[in-house]
Amino acid sequence: MPRIVSAPFDRVFLGDVVTASDIIRQGYVAVRGETIAAIGQGAPPPAAETQDHSGCLILPGLVDGHMHTSSAIGWAGIEGATRSAAAGGVTTCVDMPYDVPKPVTDAAVLADKIGWVERLAHVDMALYGTITKTGGVDAIAGLAAAGISAFKLSTYEYDAVRFPRIDHPTMVAAFAEIARTGLPVAVHNEDQELVERLTAEARAAGNTSAIWHCRTRPPLAETMADLEIFEIGLQTGAHVHIAHSSLARGFEIAEVFRRMGGQATGEACIQYLCMTEEDIVRLGGRGKCNPPFRTQDEVARMWGALEADKVAYISTDHAPWPADRKGSPDIFANGAGLTGMQSFAPLMFTLLDERGLSPTLMATYCAERSAKLHGLYPRKGAIRIGSDADLLVLQRADYAFDEAAIVDRPELRWSPYHGRRMRARVAATVLRGRTIWDGATVLATPGSGRFVKRQSH
Ligand SMILES: [Zn+2]
Repeated sequence: MPRIVSAPFDRVFLGDVVTASDIIRQGYVAVRGETIAAIGQGAPPPAAETQDHSGCLILPGLVDGHMHTSSAIGWAGIEGATRSAAAGGVTTCVDMPYDVPKPVTDAAVLADKIGWVERLAHVDMALYGTITKTGGVDAIAGLAAAGISAFKLSTYEYDAVRFPRIDHPTMVAAFAEIARTGLPVAVHNEDQELVERLTAEARAAGNTSAIWHCRTRPPLAETMADLEIFEIGLQTGAHVHIAHSSLARGFEIAEVFRRMGGQATGEACIQYLCMTEEDIVRLGGRGKCNPPFRTQDEVARMWGALEADKVAYISTDHAPWPADRKGSPDIFANGAGLTGMQSFAPLMFTLLDERGLSPTLMATYCAERSAKLHGLYPRKGAIRIGSDADLLVLQRADYAFDEAAIVDRPELRWSPYHGRRMRARVAATVLRGRTIWDGATVLATPGSGRFVKRQSH
């Protein structure tokens, strides 16, 4: 590794350096300005400041490719969500467009949201765009040109303005237009008719306990939606990405469409790698997310898909509804979504470690792959010379995750993972060379984060 001794580095971080392919024991990452300038093993080069994390793992800062900071209170939600990202080792948040009161449906709204990001974010953020329920296709080119990382559309309607279902003819037109931009389109994949009918029947029969959330959104509701979006993708040439598959079958369907020449991918959220129907029964509203948790056997199949390299990347789908939206005994009355960013790194490490799998998989699926899909690589998602010096320092530990430690707004200090044993804690988070979390305190301030444009198409 070449060294320029006459020009010492600004900062050097010592520890076991984990990349997507390797672990460099007793290694170092040297930083100049905001950028990684050297990576090596053994005696570290001279630097103005040395941070010794010997015995800890130094990973690329996580790139969480799927979250909703602004569904509950609008763009003001960016501040707390990204504070919890800093404490959780997530250095790039890729935020969904379904914001209240204004979803990101054109370049003017996007410019407003970018202003909020630059004022409030504690970590860097890339942004999704979407379209209005009708007449939105014309805004697609402008959103892509303004630097969004991906589009997000839905086959299921939560709200006609904020989170609409896009009908088939509009989806065909939208995908064709998106194909011209070269950006991927992530799709929320649930069949509206099946879910609505099953939910109406359950409610009419008085079946409103937690398990009925799973029973009214069966696997078929997901896979039917997967098939239709990939079929439209094949027809239009768009890169279609399942925003969250709770089923290994979703990844198998994507693979079939790739074999037919389509650009078809799917994303796993961390909850589908560990939570089951028994967990929603235990957690009630706090275990409600869409798609729902599945069976223990399905979790095992999800790991099979991951180990077979069929999963594009792993995200959180962090969707922080206030605790008072998660406490109804009527499961249908609760908001759908989990908090997950601050637990992301400890939980991912733990799930891999419990299976004897390497933390390099975390660098691959929670940083490099998500950065690549969103066109942020190699600036983001890698420990690589020339990349932004975004680092996650993990220290082995044995403790129960405590939701009271969440640094988001007080009403968001709840977690479906409360009490779960974790095998690592986030000892430090580094954003573009600066330590923004020291293991106890968030050192970043609102505005430390920046909007990151998609760089490659
Ligand atoms: Zn989501």
